[in-house]
Amino acid sequence: EGALPGSADVVVVGAGQAGLSVAWHLRRLGLEPGAGFVVLDRGPDAGGAWQFRWEALRLDKAHRVSDLPGMREMGLSFDTADASRPARDVVREYYERYEQWFGLNVLRPVRVTAVSEEGPGFLVATDKGDVRARVVANASGTWARPFRPYFAGAADFRGAQVSTPQYRAAEDFAGMRVLVVGGGTSAVGFLRELEGVAASTVWATRRPVEFTDDPGGGVRAVRQADEAARAGLPLPSIIHGTGLPATAENLAARDRGLLVARPMFTVIEPEGVRWADGSFEPVDAIIWATGFRAELTHLAPLRLREPGGGVRVENGRSVREPRLFLAGFGPQASTIGANRAGRTVARQVLDELRSTGRRER
Ligand code: FAD
Repeated sequence: EGALPGSADVVVVGAGQAGLSVAWHLRRLGLEPGAGFVVLDRGPDAGGAWQFRWEALRLDKAHRVSDLPGMREMGLSFDTADASRPARDVVREYYERYEQWFGLNVLRPVRVTAVSEEGPGFLVATDKGDVRARVVANASGTWARPFRPYFAGAADFRGAQVSTPQYRAAEDFAGMRVLVVGGGTSAVGFLRELEGVAASTVWATRRPVEFTDDPGGGVRAVRQADEAARAGLPLPSIIHGTGLPATAENLAARDRGLLVARPMFTVIEPEGVRWADGSFEPVDAIIWATGFRAELTHLAPLRLREPGGGVRVENGRSVREPRLFLAGFGPQASTIGANRAGRTVARQVLDELRSTGRRER
């Protein structure tokens, strides 16, 4: 779409749930797409990271994808979307219609390669040229930074090892003994898909997985994510905070041994892994569903990292660089969190522009 502008008041990096929510709120607060703000996304299509997710992932197998702000005005809602279609197709289609309906000026594919300070603002370098901006709202998500914990012997493992973003389909593991590592939604999704396709599955998690029907778990999950993000640690999975819903389907899967999590193995060997009790588990493939970290490589020139490795963000704003905002970061790593982040960040962006004189609409 459209040519890259030489400058804009605001550059939004990323057109996933968070980036689109920021853009929608900026527009609503009076900023004009184009000279006011531009959204840059490296993906070939709309849909944020959802466009890259595996074909079998359905919306009803995910948590719940929250509607983008203003989406009801279009008569659209993920709650009534066709759950028989791949989530990636539904989200791509809905986001694309959303961008057009609200005229959010998303330019793609444009990869932001480096954001550096330049005078009173930023120089945003991309693979399609440079854009000068007074404020940057970063919403680059986590998809390209899967987290894989270190294990002795991993490099000598003879079988396949994939992280969540590389998982394509259960059929790739047909007839294999598969070890799924991680206590989150993705791990549970993989175990379900592999059942009856892989020769066998075994599930290993750092913490015991509880089956709970505690509605308050979501709040706990957000608090845990907030603490992890501030410390620069990988974000705990939602399930860790909320537990696995004790539905009849999940309990039956537990009773037949599918959703039974074992404590982590201690070492990886060429043909499998060794459990803490010394017993050996022959394994043909390992799927690391062990979460993600924020993808901030393009922000490296701004030297945001604290000595402990984390990035300090207060209410969506970088503590070290107050003209930089981060949406969908840390506890907001969910679609509902991304929505809220959009509103919080957009308001502060407008205040920042007003305080340094901005172009009226
Ligand atoms: P993303 O959706 O990752 O969007 C970031 C965008 O930024 C991408 O389009 C990317 O192309 C772009 N980008 C990144 N770097 C650059 C760059 N340098 N230059 C240009 N563009 C760039 N949450 C829920 O609420 N419900 C669920 O059911 C749910 N299921 C999930 C299932 C899986 C398998 C996973 C991995 C996550 C799931 N989540 C779910 C979490 C949720 O999907 C994400 O937290 C949410 O979509 C994040 O949105 P985002 O905009 O922050 O990031």
